[in-house]
Amino acid sequence: MDLGLKDKTAFVAGASKGLGKAIAYELSKEGALVAICARDMETLLKTAEEIQQKTKNRVFPIRADVSDVREAVNFLKKGIDELGTIHILINNAGGPPASDFLSTDFSAWEEAFRLNLMSAIAMCKTAIPVMQANKWGRIVNITSVAVKQPIDELILSNTIRTGVHGLAKSLSNKFAGDNICINNVCPGYTMTERVENLAKKISENESVPPDIVKTRWCQNIPMKRIGKPEELAAIVAFLASTRASYITGTTIQVDGGFHKGLL
Ligand code: NAD
Repeated sequence: MDLGLKDKTAFVAGASKGLGKAIAYELSKEGALVAICARDMETLLKTAEEIQQKTKNRVFPIRADVSDVREAVNFLKKGIDELGTIHILINNAGGPPASDFLSTDFSAWEEAFRLNLMSAIAMCKTAIPVMQANKWGRIVNITSVAVKQPIDELILSNTIRTGVHGLAKSLSNKFAGDNICINNVCPGYTMTERVENLAKKISENESVPPDIVKTRWCQNIPMKRIGKPEELAAIVAFLASTRASYITGTTIQVDGGFHKGLL
């Protein structure tokens, strides 16, 4: 299937590693010109070079900490100056730390709000007027299955990310007439460096091998395995494409069946 992404400009936040990197690669492979951001310029440059070498399409790295509104806005402005416009925005960043409600201080709440919700607000507010002028746009928010099924000890993620879904639904209604489609993709356990490190940390704390930790996670996943970043990137690329022209305001899990509810 031709996704019609050739020469579309795509902005992927939090893309030096993990899911963001896999999404940037997938979009670049499909012919999009991709701008990526992260906080560490050295890793970001390596990622941009690696993707560019594989796909032969331009990848433009811009250093930005998206939890700072000015930097989030600047990521898009700088990229638009360089690439000419924005067709596709992928809102992604790191995740807030695991914590227990009573021991989570207010500053951690504010930080999680800035990282996972305010960043999406800032980037949508910057991207949408340009997409309106183009009469075409795609926004995909990377959130978590925690939105569908709260996960113990992930109180920050469980709470803040639902705001992203509220935002997406509201904006999808408001801007559908401008041909801007806005959707959410919820990863379940997906093997990125972050998840690998999490398994290592738990294994050290509990003095069990990391494989045992992963096996325990898999017991709650009907597909009995952890997902691969490219499995998530594939659906994101589709939702970002010209082919996904009548899908907006929706949420899809990529979780091997982890979420057990109907809706
Ligand atoms: P990751 O930590 O491996 O990668 C995050 C990327 O975002 C990195 O490139 C990092 O440099 C960048 N980043 C982090 N904070 C940033 C900031 N303030 N500004 C700009 N860039 C920033 O994480 P991941 O596993 O790829 O997950 C991506 C998102 O999906 C996270 O929000 C995570 O919580 C969520 N998620 C992941 C999983 C999973 O199993 N991997 C499951 C559910 C939800």
